[in-house]
Amino acid sequence: MISSSEMTEPTTAQAPETVTAVATETEMSRERDGEEEEKIRRQKKLEEALEAKSLRRIISAYLNYPEAAEEDLKKWERSYRKLSPAHKALVPHYALKFERLKRCISTNSYFIFNMLQAFEPPIDLSQDLDGYEDSNLDCAPHEKYVLDERHDSSCQPALTNNCAHEEESKSLHDSELQKKDTNGPSPNNYSEDARNNDDRYDCDGGQLNHDHGNASLSAHDWLDPSLQTHVPLVDVDKVRCIIRNIVRDWAAEGQRERDQCYKPILDELDSLFPDRQKQSTPPSCLVPGAGLGRLALEISCLGFISQGNEFSYYMMICSSFILNYAQVPNEWTIYPWIHSNCNSLSDNDQLRPVSIPDIHPASAGITEGFSMCGGDFVEVYNESCQAGMWDAVVTCFFIDTAHNIIEYIETISKILKDGGVWINLGPLLYHFADTYGHDNEMSIELSLEDVKRVASQYGFEIEKERTIETTYTTNPRSMMQNRYYTAFWTMRKKCAITT
Ligand code: SAH
Repeated sequence: MISSSEMTEPTTAQAPETVTAVATETEMSRERDGEEEEKIRRQKKLEEALEAKSLRRIISAYLNYPEAAEEDLKKWERSYRKLSPAHKALVPHYALKFERLKRCISTNSYFIFNMLQAFEPPIDLSQDLDGYEDSNLDCAPHEKYVLDERHDSSCQPALTNNCAHEEESKSLHDSELQKKDTNGPSPNNYSEDARNNDDRYDCDGGQLNHDHGNASLSAHDWLDPSLQTHVPLVDVDKVRCIIRNIVRDWAAEGQRERDQCYKPILDELDSLFPDRQKQSTPPSCLVPGAGLGRLALEISCLGFISQGNEFSYYMMICSSFILNYAQVPNEWTIYPWIHSNCNSLSDNDQLRPVSIPDIHPASAGITEGFSMCGGDFVEVYNESCQAGMWDAVVTCFFIDTAHNIIEYIETISKILKDGGVWINLGPLLYHFADTYGHDNEMSIELSLEDVKRVASQYGFEIEKERTIETTYTTNPRSMMQNRYYTAFWTMRKKCAITT
């Protein structure tokens, strides 16, 4: 995939017999080209530095998870201590609950730390914004990175060849982990309960198996807490959201939600491409806003060349870990529901462990060509090489993430082959509808009727349409179950657009 920031070389060839006046003009134009080139180079560097800053902030949010979760716990403990002895006596198990919560936080932290250990940043995280004047920053699209965690496109196979034996031979030894210990949080600081018992892990003391040759101290300096930036609590909230998303995509508990959201899409793809196994090349399907990648994986397993596209590093770090590094089903334990005491039927419900992943992605039966592509959907897929490339586009809880939904529809139409299908399932809970304090933030909030009207202008004809009732990352045992009545449709691109 060509990154939007890639450039072609400026042409500098000239005819030898050019008269002086023209030569001067050529020189001037060459100078202009040089200046332009330098400006673009600086802009590119600035964008990369901003991206590095944004990524450091996301990593810091992950690393701040234990501290922030323990802060909450302390708050709950303080409230408990304010109870009168008589009231305290009525809930004597409460102190024990706090102890249990502490262990759950520790287990979640262990999982997160292992995930970060496996992450290989696609950019140099040490670059900073020093040397950039304010005026440069003003014209740079920095908000895009800071607010939305968008980054340049980079496509890679969703699953690397994940051979367990190879992994074992590369695993870190105790002494190497000790070295890490002196530099900050290491898996040793956290409960190792996160990794479920399995003979293979007992062999090496439950230590990291996910070296991939890049777990040296220097390669992971960015895990050093002294280099962490301060993160607002809202960032740590995003980490908690990711933990809930893990249940949706990668836990047995999420099966009901996946049946509600993903199954109708998979059934539809299955019936729309009945002869796909007989074709010399499987049909291709793109999943913009792929989240943690389960839907894209399931589509791959159905026999499609499937690509997930996602622009959030929060999501990409986690999906990459599960897709590429999980070695067995139920390898890890997390406690997704500990962060709220509200609407619990019992403490045991709140403190229940969840095993992940429910399947081993590498053995799920994917079709060759399964990939995840990082980057903003509109930026990445408006490249000319993407036009008319896809047999199907699947959007699930995605179209309302747009600043301008019309741009999404236009892009989907552009990248579909004539006769290609767009399957959608989701609400219209526009993400930028209520961004208080960001008055200039664009947000086009069309009704469903208008979405369909716009789609028809881009050559789409509705083939199927219904409402599907579903939850989104909801705790199935909570007393609160928010429901969406989502729009599910299949539209076919009839002909090239005329607008
Ligand atoms: N499809 C998944 C995730 C839905 S949430 C599911 O059903 O569980 C919407 C996802 O779209 C988020 O992961 C968000 O990071 C991603 N997203 C939002 N805007 C995007 C954009 N412009 N390009 C790519 N991904 C985007």
